[in-house]
Amino acid sequence: MRIDIVTLFPGIFVGPLQESILGRARAKGLVEIGVINLRDWAEGRHRVTDDYPFGGGGGMVLKPEPLFACVEGLRRPGSRVVLLDPQGRRFSQDVARELAKVEHLILLCGRYEGVDERVREHLADDEISIGDYVLTGGELPALVVTDAVVRLLPGALGDAEAPGKDSFGAGLLEGPHYTRPEEFRGWRVPEALLSGDHARIAGWRRAQALWLTWQRRPDLLETAELSPEEQKLIEEFRQGKKPEA
Ligand code: SAM
Repeated sequence: MRIDIVTLFPGIFVGPLQESILGRARAKGLVEIGVINLRDWAEGRHRVTDDYPFGGGGGMVLKPEPLFACVEGLRRPGSRVVLLDPQGRRFSQDVARELAKVEHLILLCGRYEGVDERVREHLADDEISIGDYVLTGGELPALVVTDAVVRLLPGALGDAEAPGKDSFGAGLLEGPHYTRPEEFRGWRVPEALLSGDHARIAGWRRAQALWLTWQRRPDLLETAELSPEEQKLIEEFRQGKKPEA
């Protein structure tokens, strides 16, 4: 997979792209990530990338010419051009899974008041928002999308099954994790996890995942695929029963 990120502020990406799982995935050749300075695609001595909005109002708008030139230089069959935009469709684990199958992502980072509307209408294939709030630029959203997508690529995580067990992976929140010590300030690790009984541990984890989802994100239960036993557990929660602590 290749991801090209088009930005006016390439320096923002230096740390995040070389650390931890993203850095290792690049070193292993699972993903190539290019950070492209939009200014390099602007014409004229001053390489101007933004201009005043027609009709007045504060703020600047990213000009269409450098964005079109840059994307037309990068695009090839199999590319998907994604504009990061608070007005786009909401990013989620499902969208991350969808994007992880794309051969070549081109992520366009807006700035200031945003991009000229013709970029949205005639250049972007997709528009993604990472949530209902407004950031100063598309760089952090591009990093969020890149991180969520790259960790799904086969070989990116030490445990290949981790994405399926993570929250949203199987439609539920994931249950709690504990590590050593067994007792910390008087708080003990749940007995089931220390039992060495794999079936009991799996049952405990599943019950905890269901419980947390029922408590924190009941909306997820409407679409999660639940076995008859799991549906029974949810029914018991409704009647006031708690899972084994
Ligand atoms: N004036 C725009 C509006 O009200 O819709 C907001 C522009 S914002 C200050 C500048 C840029 O940051 C946007 O063009 C976009 O690339 C990025 N951005 C801000 N919030 C975002 C979000 N929640 N998701 C994705 N991109 C975002």
